[in-house]
Amino acid sequence: MKPISLSFQWTSLLHFLTRMIFINNEFVNSVSGKVFPTINPATGEKICDVQEGDKADVDKAVAAAKEAFKLGSPWRRMDASKRGKLLMKFATLLERDAQYLGSLETLDNGKPYTQAFGECYFSSDVVNYYAGWADKIHGKTIPINGDYLCYTKHEPVGICGQIIPWNYPVPMFVWKIAPALAAGNVIVVKPAEQTPLTALYCCALLKEAGFPPGVVNIVPGYGPTAGAAISNHLDINKVAFTGSTEVGQIIMQAAGASNVKRTTLELGGKSPNVIFEDADLDTAVAAAQEAVMTNAGQCCVAGSRTFVQESIYDEFVKRTIEKAATRKVGDPYDTATEQGPQVDEEQFNKILGMIESGKKEGAKLNCGGSKAADKGYFIQPTVFSDVTDNMKIAKEEIFGPVQQIFKFKDMDEVLERANSTTYGLGAAVFTNDINKAMMFSQGVQAGTVWINCYNVVSAQAPFGGFKMSGLGRELGEYGITQYYEVKNVVVKIPQKNS
Ligand code: NAP
Ligand code: MG
Repeated sequence: MKPISLSFQWTSLLHFLTRMIFINNEFVNSVSGKVFPTINPATGEKICDVQEGDKADVDKAVAAAKEAFKLGSPWRRMDASKRGKLLMKFATLLERDAQYLGSLETLDNGKPYTQAFGECYFSSDVVNYYAGWADKIHGKTIPINGDYLCYTKHEPVGICGQIIPWNYPVPMFVWKIAPALAAGNVIVVKPAEQTPLTALYCCALLKEAGFPPGVVNIVPGYGPTAGAAISNHLDINKVAFTGSTEVGQIIMQAAGASNVKRTTLELGGKSPNVIFEDADLDTAVAAAQEAVMTNAGQCCVAGSRTFVQESIYDEFVKRTIEKAATRKVGDPYDTATEQGPQVDEEQFNKILGMIESGKKEGAKLNCGGSKAADKGYFIQPTVFSDVTDNMKIAKEEIFGPVQQIFKFKDMDEVLERANSTTYGLGAAVFTNDINKAMMFSQGVQAGTVWINCYNVVSAQAPFGGFKMSGLGRELGEYGITQYYEVKNVVVKIPQKNS
């Protein structure tokens, strides 16, 4: 489906509302009266001003959520199956409006429209998946010693603060809210300052679906103000965050220091993608490039360390350079475009700085390495070979369309190198030898291991990291367990002869 012209929609009331704060099912202005600009990264121009929430707005949102969570409130009294139905309705609305939502995302984030459109359908799948969970969240009866009935109940945690990044704004929004709502929680979300528009549009859909006031509240704003107000809030019971490891650490400290909030973190990665000499070469070349360059490289689970066995190394590098040359970079509304701009000037400059550091430290720059247009934040698909483990580009997240290719000899060596990182989000191996595949998947420290594929992420399967890549899991059954408390109830059973 083709993108739609937003200039037509621009004056519509709904579009105007998506620049505001959403509390109690109403779009409102910030308490301070402040606004912040959101930028189109394909041009560097301002799209519009958005109301800037901070602590005062978070306090208002929390008060609304608290009211919605009171015992006896419509939300607390709602049948679990009805919660599921509301989520199903929301999933349908995400599909109904995918064309508009996708077009809006491309404007605000810069990702190719075809991808943004597809992400609305993926998001709808995630919401539908959790809709199905709503009336299947239940405890156990436990045979303890003595004359007692002992059972557990799975109760909502309460007010969940959710802080989301800019790289996949709609999927990240639904990964957070869908399991939380299925389990009966209430929510205060802060979208990323670079990409607030689509989450706000989704609020209109949540309202249309029939969620009661106060159940979902959205406060756009900056991390150190609105984000910090969430992670430090004494009435928020849980915080879920996706973003950089650095900010994840700040949030975990704030959660602990304030009120021991339950915390789930999905942080960065430097994921190894290992290509053995017996792999199908063309498949591996294409998959390895997509693994690191998808979403202009702005992907937490990017396969950003491509390890290639020495006997095929030169050929692999040659074909990778050829492949990079065919990558279509440009207007994100053109449906043939594979790569749009980076999300903002800060990321753009950071990536160019990392490329300079790679050159300085002696990696071989085979192609790319510079900006790809006169305006906007476009970067050429870039391929480095002869990368060694001690280089900065080998250790730190680049979050851009920059592929690093390393040479390795054998399984023992590559496993050790794959694991010598503080991260552990994803990993992949390409081989036609099942023993090698199993040995690698057993030895590598990562939350997801792909064999002969990459970046297969599904509503039904868990996603998250080992080590400093995070805490807890999202998606699948594991994801729902992060959104309820287990209450143990013990009942004395009167006995006939006592
Ligand atoms: P970030 O700062 O970690 O941003 C993620 C979210 O956290 C945003 O909503 C951000 O608000 C918020 N935040 C920032 N400081 C906070 C604080 N003190 N307390 C509470 N919330 C706070 O990420 P970034 O600066 O946009 O990007 C930097 C690097 O992070 C990237 O280069 C990449 O390596 C990594 N990253 C990883 C992911 C991922 O999917 N794991 C996603 C995005 C970025 P603002 O809107 O004000 O920034
Ligand atoms: Mg923007």
